[in-house]
Amino acid sequence: MSTTQSPHRIWNFSAGPSTIPLAVLTQLREDLIDLDGTGVGILEHSHRGATYDRLLAEAGRSCRALGEIPEEFEILFVSGGATNQFSLIPLNFLADGATADYPDTEVWSAKAIIEARDAVPSATIAVPFAGKEFGYDHVPEAGEMTPTPGAAYLHYCSNNTVHGTRFHNPPKAAPGVPLVCDASSEIFGRPMDWSKHALVYAAAQKHLGVAAMSLVIARREMINKPVRHLPSMFLYGAHAKYESRINTPPTFAIHTAGLMFRWMIQQGGVREFERRNDAKAALIYGIIDGSGGFYRGISRLACRSPINVSFRLPTEVLDQKFIGEAARAELDGLAGHRDAGGIRASMYNAMPHEGAEALASFMRDFIRRNG
Ligand code: PMP
Repeated sequence: MSTTQSPHRIWNFSAGPSTIPLAVLTQLREDLIDLDGTGVGILEHSHRGATYDRLLAEAGRSCRALGEIPEEFEILFVSGGATNQFSLIPLNFLADGATADYPDTEVWSAKAIIEARDAVPSATIAVPFAGKEFGYDHVPEAGEMTPTPGAAYLHYCSNNTVHGTRFHNPPKAAPGVPLVCDASSEIFGRPMDWSKHALVYAAAQKHLGVAAMSLVIARREMINKPVRHLPSMFLYGAHAKYESRINTPPTFAIHTAGLMFRWMIQQGGVREFERRNDAKAALIYGIIDGSGGFYRGISRLACRSPINVSFRLPTEVLDQKFIGEAARAELDGLAGHRDAGGIRASMYNAMPHEGAEALASFMRDFIRRNG
């Protein structure tokens, strides 16, 4: 991957779209003009041509290698974000009159519940854990959730982007009930136990590059048995059958995801990112915990997310002051989500340790001046 003079870049803690490694951006800039010496740029290549065939196959192979994804799973690149999957999942897998379990651990799982109810009005969307009652400060602990026996599936969000909570282990569904996971904000940030999952999906704009595309990793046996007839664009099985190109696919987004997979492999893979993410998180949580209550984490300690660190200052005025001064210090994107308020530092795989150090040093300085 080539580099020219270093461009002006600041630390971007945005929750998504979010920071992309400079090596990948630089490669994309080249590929816009001339992809692999073909004299044609990525935006101009036919999605049925030999160059795109190769690029798509490589993206799939790198994804499988990076995630150690077993052969029984299809890897699909589907246009539309994670919100599109909120509807497609029940349309494909939730029969009329059936029940699916949706623990509510935050804004995104709550939205998934609303979309599932709209997608299949005759079905029951059971909520075996209602996190809203607790201000979404934790995910269900052992014994706190009663899954529904015989449910079509249990849908959960493994890392809650807004409040900054995380399932350290997948939740326990009732026996034989498949697990469906929204891993948008942590895909490839730590190893995934595929044996426990039937379908895992992620919007691309956090760990994989370009918004408005999702990566869907699903057991072939599940997507080949949709519960109803649907138009092809809504059927995961059709996306698999036509190799993620039923129609003209988001070729640029798929290419970017391919470069991201390759970059993550070059950097040492998922376990290395887990180590790096834990180290960045330890730095910031260390300051929160050592601040004598000045910084207050939103998540309970036991289920803190290492990826999205959400916290508050003593007053909303101080929150705003922190965000404004941080932006002037070239630390961007730190405002909390409108549903949680406060501060949120999103540190995906592409955020280097130096970014976390810059934030840590700003936090120490801020408390000295305002604590
Ligand atoms: N799920 C999670 C966990 C998310 O963080 C987000 C986006 N922040 C979404 C779903 C929605 O993704 P999209 O905007 O791509 O539909």
